[in-house]
Amino acid sequence: MPRIAKVVAGLSLDREFDYLIPETVEDNITLGSRVLIPFGRTRTTGYVVGLANESERENLKSILSVDSPEPLLTETILSLVRWMSEYYCAPIEQVLKSVLPSPVRRSGMQYKQRLFVSICETPAAAEAGSGHLAGLSPKQCATWDLLTGRGNMFLQELIGELGITAAPVRALEKKGLVKIGDAPQMRNPLGKRNILPTQPHVLSSEQDDALKTLIRMCDTTQDVDDNSHQRVMLIHGVTGSGKTEIYLQAISHVLAAGRSAIVLVPEISLTPQTIERFVSRFGKNVAILHSRLSDGERYDEWHRIRQGKASIVVGARSAVFAPLPNLGLIVVDEEHEPSYKQGEAPRYNARDVAVMRSRFDGCAIALGSATPSLESWVNATRGKYVLRSLTHRVDNRQMPAIRIVDMRAEVQASGRIGILSKELMAGIQERLGSAEQTILFLNRRGFSSSLLCTKCGHRSDCDFCSVARTYHRQDHSLRCHICGRVHPVPLRCPACGDPQFKFAGVGTQRVERVVRKCFPQARIQRMDADVTSKKDSYERILGDFRSGRIDILIGTQMIAKGLHFPNVTLVGVIYADLSLHIPDFRAGERTFQLLAQVSGRAGRGEMPGEVIIQTFTPHHPAVQAARRNDFIGFSDQEMEFRRELKYPPFSHMICVTFSGVAEEKVVFSANMFSKELAASMGRGVLISPPTPAPIARAKGRYRYQIFLRSGSTLKMVRPLKTIVRQTKLPPGIQCSVDVDVLSLL
Ligand code: ADP
Ligand code: ZN
Repeated sequence: MPRIAKVVAGLSLDREFDYLIPETVEDNITLGSRVLIPFGRTRTTGYVVGLANESERENLKSILSVDSPEPLLTETILSLVRWMSEYYCAPIEQVLKSVLPSPVRRSGMQYKQRLFVSICETPAAAEAGSGHLAGLSPKQCATWDLLTGRGNMFLQELIGELGITAAPVRALEKKGLVKIGDAPQMRNPLGKRNILPTQPHVLSSEQDDALKTLIRMCDTTQDVDDNSHQRVMLIHGVTGSGKTEIYLQAISHVLAAGRSAIVLVPEISLTPQTIERFVSRFGKNVAILHSRLSDGERYDEWHRIRQGKASIVVGARSAVFAPLPNLGLIVVDEEHEPSYKQGEAPRYNARDVAVMRSRFDGCAIALGSATPSLESWVNATRGKYVLRSLTHRVDNRQMPAIRIVDMRAEVQASGRIGILSKELMAGIQERLGSAEQTILFLNRRGFSSSLLCTKCGHRSDCDFCSVARTYHRQDHSLRCHICGRVHPVPLRCPACGDPQFKFAGVGTQRVERVVRKCFPQARIQRMDADVTSKKDSYERILGDFRSGRIDILIGTQMIAKGLHFPNVTLVGVIYADLSLHIPDFRAGERTFQLLAQVSGRAGRGEMPGEVIIQTFTPHHPAVQAARRNDFIGFSDQEMEFRRELKYPPFSHMICVTFSGVAEEKVVFSANMFSKELAASMGRGVLISPPTPAPIARAKGRYRYQIFLRSGSTLKMVRPLKTIVRQTKLPPGIQCSVDVDVLSLL
């Protein structure tokens, strides 16, 4: 038995401390145990991240007690934690917080206890057997019958099923026939939903080839170190080409070999529809992890996984840390999705962490997308990853016909900036006539994006952020989409006193109003973050749409991804330009991805689909490539530009952001830091001088950014971590490091 435990405390120290393992806890302690330790003059909890026989230090203190009945971290997860801490420049305890869900970290959390009724093992009960008993009331008899049939039941379910109160059960308890006690009950996030089982499809030849290759990769037992990348497959398949079916069949294979699997999907596409597809194939063997779970559900699902009671985990970003033993396959669906990146520290990308985890676990990994990230695309085309392409939709269903409408011409013809072009109007009308459905997409919620004074041009900007307030018509308010502050609409312009305002720019609420006006007979529903803040409204709207109670669904990117509605034959993109003009070198890539994803919602059933893209920049390469559904053409062109400017995927990029209320202190800190960087970064690292962020002020704090680029991340993060640790920033100034930054705002 090792004598020393290396412990990370829950404090921000980014260090491991050595503690002696006393005999009293020797039997319970393992790697990953949560322990109580003396720390300075107090005591605190920590996690055992290593075991050793010796320590370089003397006078070690002893661990006080082990506080988790089972280890919370496995060896591979610990390796992952160490890797993340280094790669993402994050203190190890901060990484641990991401890895262990908070209800699991908290020591008070328990399984839910519920009253449980079982038959006593007394002579009276044995004698009674299953026949009717003398001296029992009819309700007591019914209870006894049900219980002898089932053996035992939760009290709530028993009385629910019989439509009785607890009194007859209590009476049986008094007679010594049954006992009522506590039993843990697993909370089930699927509730009582009835999901019918499905059978595997017969695969197309492209699907079959991809599956066979993936299965071979799963079965390879060779050492991971020499040939690790050959365990990564990129499946590039157009929307509706049957990627999910490949995942399902590969998972079946892995399960049959007694191993387990993780499926990551973006939070936004973790819809009941997606969950159902996995549950209908694998039943109770599936555990679900996403942000809408209650703490209790999360706790139970996590422990169910830990104990090997579920072998497939379907979940959002943090499911990459699911404590599955014996992992055989990881799937990352929609691998290009920016939402795999965590917005707060540690700013990890779950796709990249998944690739690392597959190495530590010695398992295969499949990345899937209709529009792969250029990072993964480069790896696949250079042979680091195995590439498989699905070029056709299942059953040779047609890809939708995509038309571009030049809104400049519309403006000239009608003299004003319209929301619905003639083509789109006609398209919607036609669908209403034939009882088919339409999706209208606009990536901006609210009514209009700004409030302008018609006289002096004053714009209502947030007092705390450098952005315009969005007008929300429902409650006639101005809202900042950065800090969330709500502001009343002024009666007069605060600058010149004029009472006339103009609502400029279009949001989904305005689209809804126009569509209602044009098609008064249609059943119309909007879906964006404003409508779906209520629990379950998201599910309800999708259910209504699926069952045909909605003709036209208007929404933000919430409806762009992963949904499968066979009766949708028209998708209209109101303005394709919105995402083109954000100041980010990935703007073109994001626009292309978004257009391809939304287009993929059309024509998924028997009837062919049509997509109408309205834009003011019809000749933009991203728009044109989307029209041709030409990912490879787009990426070839985009790669040229990235290569020239040494942007990712031709480098790794780190963004260091300084923020604070006092602008001059922020500038001072960024400049000082920049000098330190210049002095300590090796050759081959490009450092850009500090500049104000595109959103120069957010929530009252000014923001300045420094960008670092290099072919090797470690070359940058090693010196960076030291500088971050050693630099004394003025009070109130924050410095955050974002490795492989995805959003430059
Ligand atoms: P993707 O994940 O690429 O968008 P899906 O796996 O969702 O595609 O497939 C689209 C639809 O086609 C689903 O309804 C799926 O059940 C069905 N499907 C997939 N593969 C086949 C196949 N080989 N034969 C028939 N139907 C299939
Ligand atoms: Zn604000």
